[in-house]
Amino acid sequence: MEVATGKSVLGDIVIGRIRIYKPPKPEISDRMIENTQIEIRRFENAREQAIGRQNTLYEKALVDADKDGAEVFSAHVMILEDETLIDTIRESIRSRKYTAEYAVKEAFDKQAMVFAKMDDPYIKERAADIYDVEQEVLKELLGIDHMDFEEGTEPYILTAKDLTPSELIRLDKSLLLGMITQEGSVNSHTAILARSMGIQMLVQCQEASEEWDGKEAAIDGYHSCVYIEPSAELAASLKKRHDEELRQKALLQELSGAPDTTIDGTNVKVYANIADPSDIGSVLHSGAGGIGLLRSEFVYLNAEAYPTEEEQLNAYRLAVETLAPKQVIIRTCDLGADKQADYMDMKKEENPALGIRAIRLCLTHKEFFKTQLRALLRASAYGNLGILFPMITSVREVRACRKLLRECEEELKQKGVTIGSYRLGVMIETPAAVLIADELAEECDFFSIGTNDLTQYTLAIDRRNAELDPFLDIYHPAVLKEIKMTIDAGHRHGIPVGICGELGADPALTETFLRMGADEFSVNPGGILPLRKRIRAIDLSKKAVEE
Ligand code: PEP
Ligand code: MG
Repeated sequence: MEVATGKSVLGDIVIGRIRIYKPPKPEISDRMIENTQIEIRRFENAREQAIGRQNTLYEKALVDADKDGAEVFSAHVMILEDETLIDTIRESIRSRKYTAEYAVKEAFDKQAMVFAKMDDPYIKERAADIYDVEQEVLKELLGIDHMDFEEGTEPYILTAKDLTPSELIRLDKSLLLGMITQEGSVNSHTAILARSMGIQMLVQCQEASEEWDGKEAAIDGYHSCVYIEPSAELAASLKKRHDEELRQKALLQELSGAPDTTIDGTNVKVYANIADPSDIGSVLHSGAGGIGLLRSEFVYLNAEAYPTEEEQLNAYRLAVETLAPKQVIIRTCDLGADKQADYMDMKKEENPALGIRAIRLCLTHKEFFKTQLRALLRASAYGNLGILFPMITSVREVRACRKLLRECEEELKQKGVTIGSYRLGVMIETPAAVLIADELAEECDFFSIGTNDLTQYTLAIDRRNAELDPFLDIYHPAVLKEIKMTIDAGHRHGIPVGICGELGADPALTETFLRMGADEFSVNPGGILPLRKRIRAIDLSKKAVEE
């Protein structure tokens, strides 16, 4: 069995046989031509044909994907109508007597290079669109078939060096199980289309090889890898998870568009918890109302050095922009204790869970924290952002965070950077925070109860030590009482209270939490639909049945 890694566009498992996609590359000759008029006409015809084809792909994408996905092809038409680009091509045919193919390739390649050199990964990605349009025009000029690929009749996993949006939209989606490409990126338009069509894609899988042709493979989108000829045992366990996904999808169909409302008409918000932007696809699939907890640790843990403001902005913006206008709550860095990044060289502590973690680390290293705050403030311009502070134990800490935020706002404003509006939240995950919840509520816009840490700190039970399981009562009345106290305090001050720890996904507690008045639940993407189902079966007008 061979394992290759890449970057996953969707959290999904796909099992099937690989087929290699290797489209013919247009051969471009640099010979000179005599009749420039004829050559310019050839270019104009090819350009018009390409515009027509892109308009057809737009219509097809509306059906196969969605409006946002289809916009890719409107953008392609705009490239084909770009006067500067057209003039450059006409001019090099006229004055340098280039063939239309050569002039097109030279002008488009130059334009693509400009984008490819940009720092912003979104703009950089537009180079791939220029390349796609270039290929479309060249195929018109050279009379090459736009879809030279026998799809056959069996479902398959397409494997290729790269895949353009035009190629993807032309494929028969009823046979396409998933895709693996050596190149590409999770921000590319091909990836965006794949996501909106719910088709798994593993990009930047450099080990992908033509030798895989015809082999059985399993893409594991949760671990961003592909197993070639997986062992029977692994295939069975992946199949089990895959079947669970299918069950979830069936549930989604059943509950698709259904509101998170109880029988008596109480509306609740159900959000997703994620720990990596690659989970965004699962959030969209699940029909969540937004992201209630984006654990930002991934920006530090996936890096080899301190992530820059720009790098962080790109990661946060991806989530905020993709989900807009839905809310995305990003929790500031919760490193320390079990989450360490080597390059930070943090001191070993006797008792790390009670040590320099989360907000304590950030308030100790203010410049480090301000880099994240500036990135968050900048991301606020792209959608509906909530900023959440973890491990708060005092009003002083919240005020210190707000002071740093104000400083960052000033710094950004002086540079003329646009900042959007955002909401500020406090995680209630220490007993201290529960006991001063009234005071904390005066300082913020919402509460999010982290039941994992709240249980750990209330019961003095290390959440990572399985040997303590006999002493752990996950329904301990002390923790439930704290949750009720927090909800009441929040409501006394007119702010909403959500539950984002694991208990929020526990169906045995949903009714209890609703009766306490919880406004929001934030659970792992896989837990959204079961929770929606549970909420919709509850009738709060009936007397609670004692368990
Ligand atoms: C919690 O403590 O309940 C929580 C949601 O945060 P984390 O699990 O990331 O500590
Ligand atoms: Mg926590």
